[in-house]
Amino acid sequence: GSLELLSRLRAVVAGDSASLLLPQLINGHFVESRADQHLSVTNPATNGEIARVPLSPLSELDEALDHAEQAFQRWRNTPVPTRARLMLSYQHLLKQHHDELAEIISHELGKTFEDAKGDVWRGIEVVEHAANIPSLLMGETVENVATGIDSYSVTQSLGVCLGITPFNFPAMIPLWMFPLSIACGNAFVLKPSEQVPLTTLRLAELFMEAGAPEGILTVVQGGRDQVNHLLAHEIPRTVSFVGSVPVGQHIYRTATDNLKRAQCFAGAKNHMVIMPDAPADQVVNALVGASVGAAGQRCMAISVAVFVGDSKALIERVRDALAEVRPGAWDDKGASYGPLISPQALERVTGWIQQGEQEGAELLLDGRGVSVAGYPDGNWLGPCLFSKVTPEMVLYREEIFGPVLCCMEAADLSEAIELINNNPYGNGTSIFTRSGGAARRFQNEIAVGQVGINVPIPVPLPFFSFTGWRGSFFGDLHAYGKQAVRFYTETKTVTARWFDDAPAEGNQPNFSIQ
Ligand code: NAD
Repeated sequence: GSLELLSRLRAVVAGDSASLLLPQLINGHFVESRADQHLSVTNPATNGEIARVPLSPLSELDEALDHAEQAFQRWRNTPVPTRARLMLSYQHLLKQHHDELAEIISHELGKTFEDAKGDVWRGIEVVEHAANIPSLLMGETVENVATGIDSYSVTQSLGVCLGITPFNFPAMIPLWMFPLSIACGNAFVLKPSEQVPLTTLRLAELFMEAGAPEGILTVVQGGRDQVNHLLAHEIPRTVSFVGSVPVGQHIYRTATDNLKRAQCFAGAKNHMVIMPDAPADQVVNALVGASVGAAGQRCMAISVAVFVGDSKALIERVRDALAEVRPGAWDDKGASYGPLISPQALERVTGWIQQGEQEGAELLLDGRGVSVAGYPDGNWLGPCLFSKVTPEMVLYREEIFGPVLCCMEAADLSEAIELINNNPYGNGTSIFTRSGGAARRFQNEIAVGQVGINVPIPVPLPFFSFTGWRGSFFGDLHAYGKQAVRFYTETKTVTARWFDDAPAEGNQPNFSIQ
């Protein structure tokens, strides 16, 4: 590609080149910003600068939105099969460049290569779903709603849609948003996380290469001020946000205050319930992978294990298994996960660990001070395990977003359900049991939007929707699946009567239909 991001990035990482100055994608062209302020993008394994991202001047955002609006006017009547074919071409290119994208993710976020490949793959699956757009857009028809009158609905695009993404899934989350929105006939303006803007640029470059017309995808760069300017602008019709709780609340309030449609996916505290009859090996494996995988920086990570009754005997086995796991560099095949995103994130997490100890939780495994050979400056944290955690403790109240698992105990399933339903968040949860009755009851009574039964991280595939609840989601229609198509479109309902050409009595006024 013309940006040659990966080869240039490799040179930076090898110390052969200065960090990259990142462009924006406006009106189909990658252009340098007029910004005089930039932020550093760092590799979390070294904290060395790999790129600089502009804080786009607000006038530049206005220009980008104007171009997006014009592109929308050209795009909105594009035949739906043409849009589907764009998604097919894009899917093909993403698969071809799958490993390249994963390596970019690994450099800017530190994820292990295997994990980064999963990030790309989950995004590709959404593009595959978007290629079904003709069926997804089909409306409804009723003939003879009154004598000689038919009613039908058509599904139309909205205009310019906005996306604001977090650092933790640089490929998957942008791909939750723009392919479906654009397949629905909209133009999309994406503001990626300033901590991981490189993957988005490569995704955008491949989208252009797949044949996307100029301007239907725009990538602007920046942080809080840029987001707030976009939210206040009259052009965007919808706002899709994924990120932390306070920012999600702010964005939902601001977007809706500006009369925009909004969907905001926020933070989480996900519990896994272990019933006494659950298969022990399965429980231990699931807990280890789901808690410290991706360094715990997943919105669907399991951060609380709720041991029901005698199952608490498994805590010791979980500790032994976690003690075998270690972080490392992206290309270290023995590493289970990478560094935390920033020194600030590491400091925040270790602060909570310290406070947890002070509040009386028992630290069974302490990952602080872990070192990774060859990477003395990375944001490393080994697996941490706490037991005797209670709902008042900061360890339980905060979304830790690190490789820290908190163990709690419940006398029975009712107590476990009550604990989870009293937690403000409702993104994901799971139960491990051999009992169909317990699983059925859990599924029915739990106030969480994504439930796993003997599956630790129940992320729905793209033909369903990503359905977080309560404090983990602000809005109505969720990401991908059929719900995203509703979010990115407007329904128009037509009531139609046609007059017969033949001279007939049928053309008499008919008052009976009222
Ligand atoms: P973040 O909220 O700090 O940032 C997300 C985006 O918001 C970024 O693009 C950032 O530039 C922008 N932003 C930050 N502060 C802002 C402000 N004051 N005003 C306007 N915009 C602002 O989130 P993060 O640290 O990048 O991501 C981690 C969080 O995302 C975690 O809480 C995680 O649970 C959550 N997350 C949720 C889901 C989900 O589906 N529910 C998925 C992934 C991540």
